[in-house]
Amino acid sequence: MNQTAQILFPVNVPTAFDYAVPAGLDLARGDFVFAPIGKQMKLGVVWGFGTAEPGRELKSIVDRKATRPLSPDMLDFIDWTARYNGASLGNVLRMVIRNYKALDPSAIVTLYRPSGNSPKNLTPSRAAVLREGGPWPARASEAAARAGVSTGVVKGLVKAGGLVAESGPVDPPFPEPDADLLGRELTIGQKEAGEDLAAQIRTGRFNVSLLDGVTGSGKTEVYFEAVAEALRRGKQCLILVPEIALTQAGLRRFAERFGAEPASWHSQMGEAARRRVWREVAQGRCKLVVGARSALYLPFPKLGLIVVDEEHDTSYKQEEGVIYNARDMAVVRAHLSGHSVILASATPSLESLHNARNGKFAHIILPERPGAAVLPEIGLVDLKEHVPEKGKFLSQPLLDAIDVVTARGEQALLYLNRRGYAPLIICRSCGEKLKSPDTDSWLVQHKRTGRAMCHLTGFSMPMPRECPKCHTEDSLTSVGPGVERVAEEAQEAFPNARVEILSSDTAGNPAELAERMRRMEQGEIDILVGTQMVVKGHNFPKLTFVGVVDGDLGLAGGDPRAGERTYQTLVQVAGRAGRADKPGHALIQTHQPEHEALVALAAGDREMFIGVELAMREMLGLPPYGKLAAVIFWGPEAAKVDALAKKFLAAAPRADGIEILGPSEAPIGRLRGMFRRRLFVQAEASVNLSKYMATWRSKIRTASKYKIQIDIDPQSFM
Ligand code: ADP
Repeated sequence: MNQTAQILFPVNVPTAFDYAVPAGLDLARGDFVFAPIGKQMKLGVVWGFGTAEPGRELKSIVDRKATRPLSPDMLDFIDWTARYNGASLGNVLRMVIRNYKALDPSAIVTLYRPSGNSPKNLTPSRAAVLREGGPWPARASEAAARAGVSTGVVKGLVKAGGLVAESGPVDPPFPEPDADLLGRELTIGQKEAGEDLAAQIRTGRFNVSLLDGVTGSGKTEVYFEAVAEALRRGKQCLILVPEIALTQAGLRRFAERFGAEPASWHSQMGEAARRRVWREVAQGRCKLVVGARSALYLPFPKLGLIVVDEEHDTSYKQEEGVIYNARDMAVVRAHLSGHSVILASATPSLESLHNARNGKFAHIILPERPGAAVLPEIGLVDLKEHVPEKGKFLSQPLLDAIDVVTARGEQALLYLNRRGYAPLIICRSCGEKLKSPDTDSWLVQHKRTGRAMCHLTGFSMPMPRECPKCHTEDSLTSVGPGVERVAEEAQEAFPNARVEILSSDTAGNPAELAERMRRMEQGEIDILVGTQMVVKGHNFPKLTFVGVVDGDLGLAGGDPRAGERTYQTLVQVAGRAGRADKPGHALIQTHQPEHEALVALAAGDREMFIGVELAMREMLGLPPYGKLAAVIFWGPEAAKVDALAKKFLAAAPRADGIEILGPSEAPIGRLRGMFRRRLFVQAEASVNLSKYMATWRSKIRTASKYKIQIDIDPQSFM
């Protein structure tokens, strides 16, 4: 009998294909092999084995690639991800294998390092190379770029005896982290929490801990203890963080604790950096990775711990391509590989709190900030009572608070999660609102750039002088506030204050962001007006007041998690205040001071909020008590999208415990010219919703420009 192997290719295919195994080729699951597909020779992964059916002609595998195979638990994880999220197996493999070059050892090149002898003729540019060309050893081009000179200068320095050449890998290994460096002196509570987490690692088995600590309680310092324990046991560690929290300052904390900068992984990195991290991780040599969600699909062979920092953060959900939630998949990966996961947050998701309450997760609590730092007092400002002046957005209580703290030489933060100057541009003469040309979205006025912009698609045009409909000149007016407008108002009210804006428009790249953070940290800004970019992980010792301009912003719309998200965001924003020895406070402007999320915030009573929210979810059968899936249909013609949605609905398999809501027009009914409809499927907790949706989906074929997208446990309701 002839052996066959199933080969999975990293392309959009639902399953692995059968191939004949040539005699003498010894294969194992996870091996990389070359095999013909169509007219091409492609690299795939051995997924499983079988025996040839008589009479069936199979193409043959050509060869095995000499490289480390994917581990069995990695294969299981790929399989699980595809099944659970209704994704194609090949597309999930493609998330894992990003660069074939990473499968080969690093290329060897000529590298240089200072000889220690002072060279003949030390010109200023040669001196610059010696001073700024490192870290050594370096390629001539790297050293030249860092020193701001031409490669010729570096070569000249070699001839002059200042540098010596050696051979080395173009992608060097990462320095080994040292688990036993002394960390910060921990408080008693932190020490106990760290010890509990380390004990979970020592079990050597799957377990999940929810590290639930108030903002500024030192969660990072505490999970460092678990990381140290996993490193001591020779394991690799992965720390997932929201992409915008992946800053140089954040990485520096790891470097200080473990004596070596960790490998980092994010969407902006170049091919060479990606190849280096992937290879070093796959070989088991790189021990510490700090990365955004996609780092979860790196092929760690010896993973011993995953930390999901800010586990409640919505950016863990990937919304395009393979749709998955990295927080949930991290738990799956740990389960399949048999190791620990730590979910850390000051505002855990209700799902995680529920799991902690019912004993599935260990619940590790840090109730206070170390030292003299205390949590900020939070107050509500009822906008019905404290009406801002006409055309203004800051009420008197906010203005008074800013006045007090700035007079003391402290800092204020005004939070509004709206970029630009005004979210709506309207014609005073005919009432026309400026809309994106191919999308259901209002254009946002940006004064700094003088443009009108669509925040969904990035479309923009110069701000028109006249109304595009009735052509009246100078009739367009701005409605509502964005951060630019609030900053303008703050500057008018406090002419001597240094007011700055922090949003993706003013700090779009890491260098700009770091510079603004530095200025804020060093007290060079008095009033910072910021979008959600200010929410994450920064410590500003002189920031003592936070004003939330619009506390109701997240509460509108049909998202069942609206209350939860508002609560989480506002706790995090308020938590920016009073990080050091000066106590802080926060004021939230609202039209709904009776909303339970806001009442709980003001009362500092999280338990009350969780109780109300969980009871509501239970009554409605929503997560974590029931399951939810969304189906989105889209295509270029509205009538055909409607017809597709109806056809899909009619094909729903009969099953108990399933309720279908819709189809209806999505809140964003048109996006980049595509019409969108959606429906929701609500299921009882006992239903295997992924399987149900896969069966349903397999019944309908779509024309090429029409798509059906399934989103298990949706986070976005747009
Ligand atoms: P969290 O992640 O809980 O918000 P961090 O770990 O970022 O908290 O810590 C908040 C701040 O408090 C940081 O500046 C950190 O260096 C500091 N910190 C934490 N623990 C201690 C401690 N035991 N002693 C002194 N400072 C601490």
